[in-house]
Amino acid sequence: MSTESTVVIVGAGHAGGAACAQLREQGHRGPIVLLGDEPGLPYHRPPLSKAFLKGEADQDSLLLRPASWYEEQDITVRSGRKVYAIERDARQVVLAEGSRVPYDYLILATGASARRLAVRGAQLDNILSLRDAGDAARLKAALQPGRRLAIVGGGYIGLEVAASARALGLDVTVLEREERLLARVASAPLAAFFAQRHASHGVTILRGARLSHFEGEGAVEAVVVEDGSRIACDVALVGVGAQPRDELARACGLECGNGVVVDEHARTSDPRIFAIGDVSWRPMGVYGSHQCRLESVPNANEQARQAACAIAGNTCPACEVPWFWSEQYDIRLQIAGLPCGADRQVVRGMPELGKFAVYHLNGEQVMAVEAVNSPLDFIAGKQFIASGVAVCRTKLGDTACKAKEAALAPA
Ligand SMILES: Cc1cc2nc3c(=O)[nH]c(=O)nc-3n(C[C@H](O)[C@H](O)[C@H](O)COP(=O)(O)OP(=O)(O)OC[C@H]3O[C@@H](n4cnc5c(N)ncnc54)[C@H](O)[C@@H]3O)c2cc1C
Repeated sequence: MSTESTVVIVGAGHAGGAACAQLREQGHRGPIVLLGDEPGLPYHRPPLSKAFLKGEADQDSLLLRPASWYEEQDITVRSGRKVYAIERDARQVVLAEGSRVPYDYLILATGASARRLAVRGAQLDNILSLRDAGDAARLKAALQPGRRLAIVGGGYIGLEVAASARALGLDVTVLEREERLLARVASAPLAAFFAQRHASHGVTILRGARLSHFEGEGAVEAVVVEDGSRIACDVALVGVGAQPRDELARACGLECGNGVVVDEHARTSDPRIFAIGDVSWRPMGVYGSHQCRLESVPNANEQARQAACAIAGNTCPACEVPWFWSEQYDIRLQIAGLPCGADRQVVRGMPELGKFAVYHLNGEQVMAVEAVNSPLDFIAGKQFIASGVAVCRTKLGDTACKAKEAALAPA
C-alpha cells in the first residue's frame, strides 16, 4: 500500500463521492480521479423521491460537496464520462473515446439501475422510472396536480413517490403483485401500517395485482392487470427494484454474484480493485457468513471507508450494523439490522398512534428493528444488534420501560 498511488474511482454517485473524502481523510496523498457518466458532481439520491419531487429542494442543494471542495482536495472529477472497459493486466480503464486512464487501485462505485419491465407498451411516453436526477426531473415535470399516477411496485421508491404525488395533488394508485406492500423489505406489521397510512391519504392500493401490459396511443393511458382490470392513468412510474451495474466487473472476469463479490475490506477477487455501494455483494460481519447487496447511503459510506482504509494501509474499522431510512408523509422510518434467522417479533408501541417499533429476535437476541417515528427504538435496537446482548422480550414490548432497559446482563 502506498499513500502516493493513483486511485481511479468509476461512478460519481454517493459511494464514489464518499470514497474521495475517505481517501483524503485516511491520509492518501496521491492522485484521485473520479469518473462518472452523469453530468455534474456526486449528489444525494434520497431527496429525489421526497423533497425534490415536492419542490422543497432544487438540484444544487442535492450536491454531496461543492465544486470548490474537489479543487481544494486536488481531486480530478471527470463527469459525463462513461467507462467502457477495465484492462486489468495494464491496470487502466477505457473511456468512450478510446482514451485510457491508468490506476494503481481502482474503486468500482457504479451503483445500480432501475429494473425495466419487458411488457407490451413499456415504451410509451410518460412511463417513467426513478434512479437519477434526470429521471427525477422528468417525473417532477409529469406530476401535475389533478393527473392520475399509476405506480407499479409497492416498495420504498413507489411508496415515497406516492406520498409526494399526493402532496402535489395527484390521484394515485399503487399496484403491488404480492399480497402485501414492501414484501421483500419490511415485516408484515410495518407493511400493514404503511398500507393503512397511504389509504388514509387517499392512495388506492391494489394487492396481488400482476401487471399485464400498458395501453395508450403515444403516451400511456392505462395500466392493465393480469386479471383484466384496467387502471386509467396519465403517468406511470415503474418501481420494481434495481439491478447492480456490474457489467464492467463481469467483462473483466471479477467474481460476481448478485453484484461484485467483495470481502470485508470491499476488495474484489482482484486485490487492486475494490467495489463499494449498491454494486457490491458484501459480507455482513455482524451476521457471520451472511452476504448480501445493500442499497442504502450508510452502506455506501461504510464501504467507501473500508476501501479507503485498505488503500491507505490503515486498519479497517469493525463492520457496522446496516441501517436505512425512508420518509413518507409525516412518517420517518428507520431500520437497523437484517432479520436474518429471526424467529419472533415484538411490537413495541401502538401502530395506530403512528409511533412504534417492530423488533426481530432470534431467541433473546435482537437481529433487526424497524422504528416508526421512534428514534430511541432505532438507537436501542442498533446497540442491541451491535453488542449481541440478550434482551427481555417482556420489557421490550412494554413501553412503560425504556427500550434500553430490556438488555439482560451479558452471560
Ligand atoms: C429515488 C431514490 C431514493 C432513495 N432513498 C434512500 C433513502 O431514503 N435512504 C437510503 O439509505 N438510501 C436511499 N436510496 C439509495 C441510495 O441513494 C443508494 O444506496 C446510493 O446512492 C448508492 O450509492 P452508489 O454510489 O453505490 O450508487 P449511485 O449513487 O447510483 O451512483 C453510481 C454512479 O455510477 C455511475 N456509473 C455507472 N456505471 C458507470 C460507468 N460505466 N462509467 C461511469 N459512471 C458509471 C452512475 O451513473 C451513477 O452516477 C435511494 C435511492 C433512490 C434512487
